[in-house]
Amino acid sequence: MGVYDIYILCDECFDVHRIGTGITLEDGPANKQSIDEAYAGKKLPSDIASLLNNDFQCPNTGKSIVEKDNSQVFLVPVVFI
Ligand SMILES: [Zn+2]
Repeated sequence: MGVYDIYILCDECFDVHRIGTGITLEDGPANKQSIDEAYAGKKLPSDIASLLNNDFQCPNTGKSIVEKDNSQVFLVPVVFI
């Protein structure tokens, strides 16, 4: 299992923003991976699904974003056991 920070590649400014931190996943990847790769053919964990349902405000442009492209959402392990 691991504890992850969640980042998105922003459609507005093309920078990477952290949208979540300290998410525990039983079946997460050992290394940085996009969620479409990490959960190909599997159901997304509810913690991530609910995070992606929320609007996120881009700190550079101030626009709100809803990220729908799972290849632009990344899991970065903080702790991996
Ligand atoms: Zn942005």
